[in-house]
Amino acid sequence: MMNQTKTYEELSAELEELRLQVQEANETLHAIKTGQIDAIFVENEKGRQLYTLKTADQTYRVFIEKMKEGAVTLNSNELILYSNSQFATMIGEPLSKVIGIPFRRFIPDIYKNEFDKLVKKGWGSDSKGELSLQNKTGQLIPFLLSFTSLELDDGMALSIILTDLSAQKNVEKELQLKNVQLEAIKQKISGMNEQLEETVEERTKDLLISREHFKFLADNIPVIVWTTGQDGSIDYFNKRWYEFTGLSPEQSMGLGSQAALYDADLEPTLNAWTQAIEKGAHFDFEYRIRRADGKYRWFLGKGHPLKDEEGKLVAWFGTSTDIEDQKKEMEKKDEFMSVASHELKTPLTSLKGYIQLMQQHRDLPDNIEKYISKANDSVNKLQHLINDLLDVSKIEAGKLKFDMHKLNLVDILNACIENSSYIYASLKIKKEIGKTLPVFGNGERLEQVIMNLVSNAVKYSPDKNEIIIRTTVENDRVTVSVIDFGIGLTETDQKRIFERFYRVENSNFFTSGLGMGLYISAQIIKEHHGKMQVQSQLNKGSSISFSLPLAGG
Ligand code: ADP
Repeated sequence: MMNQTKTYEELSAELEELRLQVQEANETLHAIKTGQIDAIFVENEKGRQLYTLKTADQTYRVFIEKMKEGAVTLNSNELILYSNSQFATMIGEPLSKVIGIPFRRFIPDIYKNEFDKLVKKGWGSDSKGELSLQNKTGQLIPFLLSFTSLELDDGMALSIILTDLSAQKNVEKELQLKNVQLEAIKQKISGMNEQLEETVEERTKDLLISREHFKFLADNIPVIVWTTGQDGSIDYFNKRWYEFTGLSPEQSMGLGSQAALYDADLEPTLNAWTQAIEKGAHFDFEYRIRRADGKYRWFLGKGHPLKDEEGKLVAWFGTSTDIEDQKKEMEKKDEFMSVASHELKTPLTSLKGYIQLMQQHRDLPDNIEKYISKANDSVNKLQHLINDLLDVSKIEAGKLKFDMHKLNLVDILNACIENSSYIYASLKIKKEIGKTLPVFGNGERLEQVIMNLVSNAVKYSPDKNEIIIRTTVENDRVTVSVIDFGIGLTETDQKRIFERFYRVENSNFFTSGLGMGLYISAQIIKEHHGKMQVQSQLNKGSSISFSLPLAGG
């Protein structure tokens, strides 16, 4: 009705006003399109209101759009005046559904209080806080919100920069999990460490006890005890060493102790020691050491190599035992033996002569002839024994010397075989010998060795009367073996049968003897630059052999 009363002029003026409004709106729209300003119409109780952000130039827009963070600007009613597309993406809505909407819509109820506090603070000064926003699908996304109030042409606005904390929160969660795991591992390690510490403590205690134990024992025995490093230089002596030599630790360590050795013993001792070090084998040697008063005494040195689990030599542990008194006793015994056997030899020789004279008598009664023959056998045995004793004495005095000629070992072997079949009438000798075996040697002494091997083979084979005599040639050496099928030898005994006076103790088997035969044989063979060897199996038999270099040409 009112319109009907309006004049044409009034209507024209109204039209003109509307036209101007449209033009203004078009211009604003153009400006928005070209990016000159940010602007927005907002419907509210006051009707339609246009908000513009005149500061938003092109650079600012590009910058805001390129940010990883979400950016929104709210008016005093918390309506979103501006949002970059990043925020819209974060929230899962198109940009058109975000702008003009109250920001609180995206805040879940539980965070509304917190949000209010932050907004209130944000209007006054810059503020920051973490809370979660709800996206379109209802999912809560953690954000860091930074508030800054701005003064715009159309009044105050609040800008919020939103940083998505999901990734960070995930990392934090993972980190927490890792921390828990780390803590568990730490606890485990600390448990292990404790255990290790306990073990180390225990071992250290054990070590201390064994070291003290060792020291106590070493200092309270009459034997000299020493240890060396892997190179063989002395790093420890027990009390006994210092008491005996009168030397100080400084004079004794390393190679210092060598000064206490008797001059003539130094070189052979060092040779034996070097050999032991090179081979990592036991050291066993006799030498003289100077006592504090300047007198020398004989010692038996024994060294034992200490090896680690991998068999690497780490140290040597050794003893030196004073054997001066035993040596003296032995020398006396040797001297007695030498004198006694010489003394015995003279009457024995005349006894043998008288027996031979008696044997020349004809027409003696049968029984007397038999007695004379038996007396002759006994005298032969006695002579054999005395010869052995004399040989041992000679060896001890270093006087076992004999001439050597080139000879054929086969001849000697044949003579021994003939001799043996005469002495041991029922013995079967299997001959496995070469045709010619030239060697340099002493025929009588070699015969003595072979006869000794044959007599042992017979003596220690009570149930068998068969032996083999075999020769083999290898690398310009000939080996003569006397093989039997008798009682055999244990490994320990095999190592010792060439020692002076060594006899195997066997409760099941006993024969007389003095343990000199193999000792003398070994010495004779040594003089021939040869070597004796034994191979044997208990209750199966033995093969005792010697090898000699063959004489060329
Ligand atoms: P003897 O025979 O006088 O005891 P030997 O020096 O000839 O002395 O031998 C030393 C030891 O070696 C003997 O006592 C014996 O126990 C052992 N033996 C030697 N030859 C043999 C052998 N063929 N079989 C078994 N044992 C042997």
